[in-house]
Amino acid sequence: MIIFLDYDGTLVPIREFPYLAVIDPERKKLIESLARRHKAVIITGRDKRSFSRVFGKVPEDIYLVTSHGARVYRGEQLIEDRLKAEMPDLTPLRERLAGLPGTFLEEKEGCFALHYRSFKGNEEEVIRIFDEFVSGNPPLKVIKGKKVLEAVYGEFDKGKGVETALKVLSWDGKEKVLYIGDDTTDIDAFRKVREIGGTALYVGFPPPPEADGFLRDVEEVYRFLSYLK
Ligand SMILES: [Mg+2]
Repeated sequence: MIIFLDYDGTLVPIREFPYLAVIDPERKKLIESLARRHKAVIITGRDKRSFSRVFGKVPEDIYLVTSHGARVYRGEQLIEDRLKAEMPDLTPLRERLAGLPGTFLEEKEGCFALHYRSFKGNEEEVIRIFDEFVSGNPPLKVIKGKKVLEAVYGEFDKGKGVETALKVLSWDGKEKVLYIGDDTTDIDAFRKVREIGGTALYVGFPPPPEADGFLRDVEEVYRFLSYLK
């Protein structure tokens, strides 16, 4: 069986600050033993750094999908990077902006933002450079804000993350797929999993219509997982 597990709210209770949501060592061991018997994929909106901070080293048997489905790791090893594929090379843009002090290029996951709040020259020129770049490297979405121009290239969701992970795992189309998650961001994954004949369990009550059933809380998630290990 392939078991997808959301992290915050599923494997750890939601905490006031994300960095406080540290996994219990015994529970981590349980997930590890589950991963040896089945295939376990933790799927999170966190990036790898933020995840490692609360989970520690990812054991080799555990797969990890980060950044809302954009990256897949096996243990600590990055094995699939959709984020990189989506982003254009920003070097030509950076070079053109080098002569315009006060402009600042911010690279984010799956998008970039060109800030020009501190730029003293002709703003039209900054906008023109941006427009030229995006017309050559068309993004999915352009957001023109206050003294900031943003280009969005990668829009990821956990449904696409499930798809990517199944490809990486060379899923044969027959092995059972289970997904456990607690959040609205998991709904895309619920739909995907059910579409392929798998089972989606929601953590909490009442479950959304996209789920097959529910587990009341994190405690119950582990009780359930301990039957599967
Ligand atoms: Mg969650």
